[in-house]
Amino acid sequence: MDRLKVLFVASEVFPFAKSGGLADVAYSLPRALKKYGEAETVLPLYRFIDREAFGIEPMGVSFDVRVGGQEHRVDLYRCEHNGIVYRFVYAPLLCDREYLYGPPEHGYDDNGLRFGLFCKAVVSMLALGGYDVVHLNDWQTALVPLLMRDAGIRGVASVYTIHNLAYQGVFEPPLLEALGIGREHFTMEGIEFYGRVSFMKAGIGYADAVTTVSPTYAEEILTPEFGCGLEGYLAKHRQKLTGILNGIDPELFNPADDPLIPHPYEEPGGKSDNKKAYLEALGESRLRRPLFIFIGRFTGQKGLDLLTGALPHMASRPCVVAVLGEGEERYHAELEALARRYDNVYLTFGYDEALSHRMYAAADFLLMPSLYEPCGLNQMIAMRYATVPVVRHTGGLADTVAPVDDFVPGSPSGYGVLFVRADAEALADAFDEAMDLFLDRKRFRAVAKHDMACDFSWHASARRYEALYQKLHKGVKA
Ligand code: ADP
Repeated sequence: MDRLKVLFVASEVFPFAKSGGLADVAYSLPRALKKYGEAETVLPLYRFIDREAFGIEPMGVSFDVRVGGQEHRVDLYRCEHNGIVYRFVYAPLLCDREYLYGPPEHGYDDNGLRFGLFCKAVVSMLALGGYDVVHLNDWQTALVPLLMRDAGIRGVASVYTIHNLAYQGVFEPPLLEALGIGREHFTMEGIEFYGRVSFMKAGIGYADAVTTVSPTYAEEILTPEFGCGLEGYLAKHRQKLTGILNGIDPELFNPADDPLIPHPYEEPGGKSDNKKAYLEALGESRLRRPLFIFIGRFTGQKGLDLLTGALPHMASRPCVVAVLGEGEERYHAELEALARRYDNVYLTFGYDEALSHRMYAAADFLLMPSLYEPCGLNQMIAMRYATVPVVRHTGGLADTVAPVDDFVPGSPSGYGVLFVRADAEALADAFDEAMDLFLDRKRFRAVAKHDMACDFSWHASARRYEALYQKLHKGVKA
């Protein structure tokens, strides 16, 4: 087998820029792939990335990219961080912004141009040669396979991974001309989507292989319920679609050696000091109560309506609930009102990596009532910290959490409380089940200990990506 050189392309990569799970994957998957070959990662050099702290230096390579009727000078930068080479694309249009994609309520108006420019810059990089495979992620990178075809780039296999089908990058038709994309691509088989231009379709239609981040989600997106209008198009390309489960980085999320938590631990029993520290910091003295946490974006997808609907019931029971996140304004308002009304409900607005680690280390249960969940990392992180997940049976949650009623010590699956119906009562029932489990101390500890020992690393999935790269590489060489 050849040792392949892979260019991993993403619009966010931990620790440089992160808004969600994609950044974690873009950090940890290339690290896991290093075992098989060479993996480099490229991302935009957003203004807020600290060049000095990361030692990011100009490569002395630049080119002009034409978008919006203008030439834009693009400069490439590089750094090495934790054993991985990162390349950065810098152009003011793409990078000189306060946010990655726009303020919480909406995306920037010119995101089509911005990420069109990013895709074009990546194709210019590929044209310089040296890469065997390009691995694209989400709509911000999805034009690359189409542009590669137009640019006549051969010998580089393309993989497109869908991390969330709901975010498609759909723009008005004038964008085609602004990006210099020919009308021949503006068809139903190509990138036309109800009269508009869809980046997502370019990834699905033109890449050599399409993956999504869990086997269950790969099936779900072929149905109208989860397909976001693309189920037919995906079905057409079904032969190149597979689901490969995400993993988490076992070093980054390691309760035994985590600098972000006050009391590192190797056994679930070690969590109690972390719980005490966390609850005391909140001003909560009922330390023996089970602690439930929710961490994530405040959107309908993450089950915020279920959470706000079930919270009054939860708060009426002897527990503590702590919520960390940010997102849609209406959920901020609802959660704020609930936290004011109930003295055992705590709320922290914002994005706080260090606090999230302290919460995973402190909690007894993680609530994850997602309406859909392509993979989900929180439940895997939680289990690694011996926090038992309470999740809806969907997507990657269904692939990583088995019902605690079927608990078999020593099996490879994680265990938690699962519920199926997407309503607040079903979540409240699952919560009650978790409360009962908590009182059954021996069983609760056995489940937490089991979950902590599960392998949620990239080990198995990196091997599957590598096998896919090898297969495609043979195809494009032939
Ligand atoms: P998403 O759909 O947002 O990508 P994932 O479950 O795939 O969801 O990944 C979410 C990642 O972001 C996890 O690492 C989670 O711990 C982290 N996260 C989400 N919200 C917050 C927050 N408010 N503060 C800190 N970390 C967060």
